[in-house]
Amino acid sequence: MNSEPTGIEADRARGIVTISWADGHQSSYTASQLRWACPCAVCHGEWGRPGVLAGLKALEPEEQQLTDLLAVGPYAVTPVWASGHSSGIYSFEYLRTLCSCEQCRLNPGNPPSATSDRH
Ligand SMILES: [Zn+2]
Ligand SMILES: [Zn+2]
Repeated sequence: MNSEPTGIEADRARGIVTISWADGHQSSYTASQLRWACPCAVCHGEWGRPGVLAGLKALEPEEQQLTDLLAVGPYAVTPVWASGHSSGIYSFEYLRTLCSCEQCRLNPGNPPSATSDRH
């Protein structure tokens, strides 16, 4: 498993985050994809309780507008959303499991973790 990034690019205008990994792989995420995957306790729930995202079908545009991407130590990033929400800490390992490119879907290098939630 290689979840070490060598480069992160956040294109706020287009709402696309691109991560280059140490093994040469590249992943692109749309802002809304990342927003729906927010792992914070409010969005995702905790201790078996569902989070608010589980009860939503759509998000307000400002919830999906990326205003910033902050580094959290050497192992994670936190997106800041136009709504002010910024409590999701996305570890690189988690982000790698979110990669939805054809290669990762067909040959998942990382088994989906128990915490990943498919909509
Ligand atoms: Zn959240
Ligand atoms: Zn991939």
